[in-house]
Amino acid sequence: MALQLRPNCEYCDKDLPFDAPDARICTYECTFCEECVQNRLHDVCPNCGGGFVPRPIRPRVARRKGVGLPHQPPSTERKHMKYSREDVAAFVAGVRDIPPEER
Ligand SMILES: [Zn+2]
Ligand SMILES: [Zn+2]
Repeated sequence: MALQLRPNCEYCDKDLPFDAPDARICTYECTFCEECVQNRLHDVCPNCGGGFVPRPIRPRVARRKGVGLPHQPPSTERKHMKYSREDVAAFVAGVRDIPPEER
């Protein structure tokens, strides 16, 4: 199954199209914008506690048979955090000082 290319930042709802250079994902594909990851989440996913990496940009044409944007298009389902911003801030504060590889 292909990586889900989710259309927005779960925190601030910014649009993150498939080729957005500032899209960040955690290991569960939770998707946020770079600004929220840096300034609000401090590299802590509010859903799982893991760190983030830049989301890879899927090729817009099928450069190999059966792969590429025409075959695995981006998701259109907008996601939003299921926790309040206050809850997230407290969660982040308890995890941010632990390096992702030690969480
Ligand atoms: Zn954001
Ligand atoms: Zn996560």
